[in-house]
Amino acid sequence: MASELKTFSQGGIHVDDRKYSHESPIEKLPASKLLVIPTSQHIGAPAKVVVAKDQAVKIGQIIAEKAGFISANIVSPASGVVKAIEARMSPTGFKQECIVIENDMKDEYFEAVTDIAPSPEAIEKYDPASAVKQVEKAGIVGMGGAAFPTSVKLSPPPDTKIDTIILNGVECEPYLTADARIMIEDADKIAAGLALIMKIFSKNGPVKGYIGIEANKPDSIQKMSEAAAKYKDIQVVSLALKYPQGGEKQLINAITGRSVPSGKLPGSVGCVVQNVATAAAIFDAAVNNKPLIERVVTVTGLGVKTPKNLLVRFGVMFTELIDYCGGITEDAAMLICGGPMMGKALQTSEVPVTKAVSGILVLNHSEANLYEEAPCIRCGRCVDVCPMGLQPGMINKVIEAGEYEKLEELAIMDCIECGSCNYICAGHERLVQKIKIGKIKLQEILKARKEKEAREKAKAETKAAPQDKPGESK
Ligand code: SF4
Ligand code: SF4
Repeated sequence: MASELKTFSQGGIHVDDRKYSHESPIEKLPASKLLVIPTSQHIGAPAKVVVAKDQAVKIGQIIAEKAGFISANIVSPASGVVKAIEARMSPTGFKQECIVIENDMKDEYFEAVTDIAPSPEAIEKYDPASAVKQVEKAGIVGMGGAAFPTSVKLSPPPDTKIDTIILNGVECEPYLTADARIMIEDADKIAAGLALIMKIFSKNGPVKGYIGIEANKPDSIQKMSEAAAKYKDIQVVSLALKYPQGGEKQLINAITGRSVPSGKLPGSVGCVVQNVATAAAIFDAAVNNKPLIERVVTVTGLGVKTPKNLLVRFGVMFTELIDYCGGITEDAAMLICGGPMMGKALQTSEVPVTKAVSGILVLNHSEANLYEEAPCIRCGRCVDVCPMGLQPGMINKVIEAGEYEKLEELAIMDCIECGSCNYICAGHERLVQKIKIGKIKLQEILKARKEKEAREKAKAETKAAPQDKPGESK
């Protein structure tokens, strides 16, 4: 049974959830002939291409290898031939290096996969020693949108004691319903994935598992509660409707009451957070050797004719998904990759689905709300709603004045880019957009400061070292 409603303690807003596609079961989009695969679909260094033009590839074959600790493998989502390796437009809004694969439609796998069903017995039998390697090989990243490499999250520093694993099934972004549908349709796999993650961490002591879901998804809560009841120490937590309930730090606070300190990671308070779809992918990779080749994407908004949830191979163009949903309406006004709060407006739908794409949103004119910016009236509402306790209006002024050094004491790097301040701002200021620029500027300053300190230290050490005297031999 789900427990009573919980929520995070600081800030937050109430948004109209507009989950138009909630009742639409997941449909599998037919495979495309041509798939475009960017080598950077995750936080961290882009993967390094390890295939050549005209080379034959199979499903699950690594086509770009992780390059560094924070990076992720990219595997082929189809069997076929590499047609090109070139820069193409990606859902980031920029051109990126991409591997273009011509799908031979044979769906041949590079390595054998199994089909062991998720169950407590399957987890009981599973030896977790190779789980992290399997997850890394499969190219799994966080599928809630952040795309942080999952194998890194599953390998915290040895002195970090993890006692709590939280699955994020909140999906607090308005419009998006992919996670809600996965919880309804694949609850057993998600619960098994959580039990497996708990097993990975339990070598250092007992671990509890939670699945956080907002209370506006009673069907997801029911299915997940039934699946979770088969396992020991897993609890479904029903959460109040408050944005950004699905923020990692907010979810930890809502469920455990713990607060992740500024600049620290969830591991600092004994927690690991994974998205529900990621947990299912972890089960598939670890137990069945299945690579990550597809994901569920919500295609929605009043600018699209029939909102749906689609299971899509990576590399398929947004245009194909929108066409499958009946195309756009006459008053379609804006295309967004992701949700309306944290998503990115795009100029073209000729970009491919990647691991981080949870939704494609086509807003019509009335939804798009294209307000003109007006001067700040110092109402203070942005401060009230900020879930990280920041002063977005003040940060905005400092950025406009170009006084980027001051952004450090205003803790700009703590901003989770949730968009709550934008949503509430009486002046319709584009606060988050400016904060993103401010973060880049501050990072440049901090980098330059660090380099200068290193240079001065090296100079001081050279001066302090005893000098050779003429005529002396060593
Ligand atoms: S976008 Fe950043 S500054 Fe604005 S409310 Fe969210 S965390 Fe606070
Ligand atoms: S919400 Fe907007 S208008 Fe109000 S103080 Fe913040 S930046 Fe200024």
